Amino acid sequence: MAAKLSPMMERYKEVKAENPGAMLLFRMGDFYELFYEDAQNAARVLGLTLTSRDKNSENPIPMAGFPYHQLDNYLQKLIQNGFRAAICDQVEDPKKAKGMVRREVTRVVTPGTLTDDQLLDPRESNFIASVAPAKETLGLAWLEVSTGRFLVAEIEPALLQDELARIRPAECIVPDEVAGAGQLPVPRPDLGGPVLTGRPAWCFSKEESRRLLTEHFGTKTLEGFDIEDDSPAVTAAGALLEYIRDTQRAALGHIGRLESYRRSRHMTIDEATRRSLELTHTMRDGQRQQSLLGTIDETCTPMGARLLADWLSSPLMNLKQIEDRLDAVQELVSELSLRDDLREALKGMYDLQRLTSRVATGRCTPRDLTCLSSTLGQLPRMKAQLTQRRAARLVTLEQRIDLCGQVQHAIAQTIVDEPPVTVADGGVIRPGFSEQLDELRELAQGGKQWIASYQAKESERTGIPNLKIGFNKVFGYYLEVTAAHWSKVPEDYIRKQTLKNQERYITPELKEYEDKVLRAEDQSKALEQEIYAQLRTEVAEHVTRLLNTADALAEVDVFAGLASLAAAAGYCRPEVTEEAVLDIREGRHPVLDRLMPAGEFVPNDVRLGLDALTVDQGEPSTASAAGHENGRVQIITGPNMAGKSTYIRQAALLTVMAQMGSFVPASEARIGIADRVFARVGASDELGKGQSTFMVEMTETARILNSATARSVVILDEIGRGTSTYDGISLAWSITEFLHDETQCRTMFATHYHELTDLTQTLRHASNWHVAVQENNDDVIFLHRVIEGAAGRSYGIHVARLAGVPRSVTERATKILEALENQHVTDEGKSSVPKRETRRQQKRQLSLFEFPEDPLLDEIRQLNVDEMSPRQAMDELYRLRQELSERKA
Ligand code: ADP
Ligand code: MG
Repeated sequence: MAAKLSPMMERYKEVKAENPGAMLLFRMGDFYELFYEDAQNAARVLGLTLTSRDKNSENPIPMAGFPYHQLDNYLQKLIQNGFRAAICDQVEDPKKAKGMVRREVTRVVTPGTLTDDQLLDPRESNFIASVAPAKETLGLAWLEVSTGRFLVAEIEPALLQDELARIRPAECIVPDEVAGAGQLPVPRPDLGGPVLTGRPAWCFSKEESRRLLTEHFGTKTLEGFDIEDDSPAVTAAGALLEYIRDTQRAALGHIGRLESYRRSRHMTIDEATRRSLELTHTMRDGQRQQSLLGTIDETCTPMGARLLADWLSSPLMNLKQIEDRLDAVQELVSELSLRDDLREALKGMYDLQRLTSRVATGRCTPRDLTCLSSTLGQLPRMKAQLTQRRAARLVTLEQRIDLCGQVQHAIAQTIVDEPPVTVADGGVIRPGFSEQLDELRELAQGGKQWIASYQAKESERTGIPNLKIGFNKVFGYYLEVTAAHWSKVPEDYIRKQTLKNQERYITPELKEYEDKVLRAEDQSKALEQEIYAQLRTEVAEHVTRLLNTADALAEVDVFAGLASLAAAAGYCRPEVTEEAVLDIREGRHPVLDRLMPAGEFVPNDVRLGLDALTVDQGEPSTASAAGHENGRVQIITGPNMAGKSTYIRQAALLTVMAQMGSFVPASEARIGIADRVFARVGASDELGKGQSTFMVEMTETARILNSATARSVVILDEIGRGTSTYDGISLAWSITEFLHDETQCRTMFATHYHELTDLTQTLRHASNWHVAVQENNDDVIFLHRVIEGAAGRSYGIHVARLAGVPRSVTERATKILEALENQHVTDEGKSSVPKRETRRQQKRQLSLFEFPEDPLLDEIRQLNVDEMSPRQAMDELYRLRQELSERKA
């Protein structure tokens, strides 16, 4: 028979049942306790000692716990280990409770719903996403609880993975029926994908979602947010809001609007390209530090850092908007003292977005409020600095900075300069703010003074020189007498406790004052809490203004940071244009340039699409002798380690930077707006990912060929490497032809296959470039300079000679190389590769390198392997080998 549970454990079971799937942290006194399976898991994951409750009963309950003030630490570990945690607090004062203290779950913490500063990286956004599958499209919503940013989009299912790679949510909610692995194209958590959380189907109801959203935003329809009411985006957003309500259990006033994200307004960068360009995180270890973002981030505040990441992840397409940003950066580049002043002010600011959000959810600490107030204190200066600017964006920002004077005033007046972390222990409210509070404090203070004087008085009366008054929670104030003076203790002392060398006493007088002190202290603490709550409510009324101001500050910070970078690293303002060109003079790779000692990175030019700004009509290409070095396709050859990958990545990175509104590392740059940037790396360059299959390489290449447009920029790095040489060359060849003839986009193809240089004989807009190498007698020096023309071809053999390979071998290799080359170059010196036919013409299978057929091959083809026994197969193999060896003899 199961033992009857105590009322407390009954309540535990009830709460546990209401919060399935979460670890329940149950507050008991000064501890959070876990029971049953949760205790066992916590013992394992958090390293807590597993004990049990009701040890002596028949069914002891497994139990583990930790002191309440360590909650943040343990929460962090739980979340990192993929758990969700429901925090059940005592929601009434134990002193005032009649019977058992009431306990409720005050919030559920999941990876995507973190708000605590200690659990979040200040410089990274922490989004939670929601996916609502519809008939042909998907609704996608994403929200950052810690700042209130809430966005939606309606997308094609095939784009989900790319969108999630851009947003990088920590968690993603989906309907239960698609939560299973592999149902949606979402990367697995161990590959950097979000934690998937299934929600019941009713959460994804269209009507319910619309109702919830309009109720939350206080609107009749969602059209004001530029969202159609019957879009699946609404369903995704509604389900998300429902989940946030369920987990936060707090006011959500900071979620003030819904932004509609239009993919078409931003450059499309797919997941593989993001990874390979290392835009926001490095490929090797997923760190932000040496990514492009980490390199260009000169912002002073976490708000700025997060906005910068946002801009870099979604570069713009609209010329006017890009120019607006560049104007702002330029003005701050040229006005050094303004830039320094702004940055100085920004450095003194705290994270106004997250602070404000904590005020809105009622989870701010007194320190949060003083940080908020001191941040607001910087605003008048900043606003003044920003007046009368030329750049339109800066003018707008100046207008958007709302000084929120009342808020600052209210906080500064109410709260002491350096408040404690919590309100509970008092000392938060400034003296002079409330007469009543001051009186209570005086009373307590007076009592304490009396007690202090009582010590002196009693010491004199009893002749005990070291008589001391102490305090503890168990029996309050007491008089302490050491063993040497026990004989002098007067009659009226009441003994309370005997320790080894001391005895503790109380007196009625002492208790009387103690009572006064404690009562006054209790009352003053309660009053402080009341005043504090009022202040919080007052500040919360200004959440929208505060958040708008925070957004403006973030943008000022990004502009000042980009300007500071541009000035320090010698960047230029790119000329952004609608024409499909890429004309970069003395361009540098933004990351390597800053990593290497100054001046060591070798700058290079890029000239793409300058020859013909008009688009071909698709006639068959004809070879033209020269003059196409400014064409839209560049083939870059050169030995390993020459700098090919660096060069082509640099071109893509500068395009991204220009479209986000940044200056670029070059002396001059004209950059045509790209609708998409693609970057693909051949299989073996990506060995580290553990999925270096040729299939992956080709799947990704297929995507480029199917989705690139004439406005795209495509960089291909050693594509075709993942298969045999001839296979690889042939594929690389035809891929380049396709991009040249059909897609007609700006293309850069780095390859160590020298054979590809022949392509320029047939492709009118393609040119050969190579990385210069200097040969001294016994040395090859990589100059990292990219120049026109095809590379010389003997470096492999040259390097072999340097490495000490016997001369006879390298000489023989040279001969073989010549023979091989002659094999596919005809007498006229032209490549034997047949000309490509365009789509208009009948397509015919072409074979690039043809060999005379061996009759044995035909025999092998005719073998019916499926019908053979292993024995017969072996026999056949022996026979074939016999025939071959006879032929040789
Ligand atoms: P490849 O792709 O031709 O094998 P990489 O682009 O990977 O060569 O470059 C190899 C190394 O050469 C880089 O890690 C870098 O240290 C150096 N490098 C490349 N380009 C430059 C440059 N322009 N200036 C200075 N060093 C460079
Ligand atoms: Mg390379």
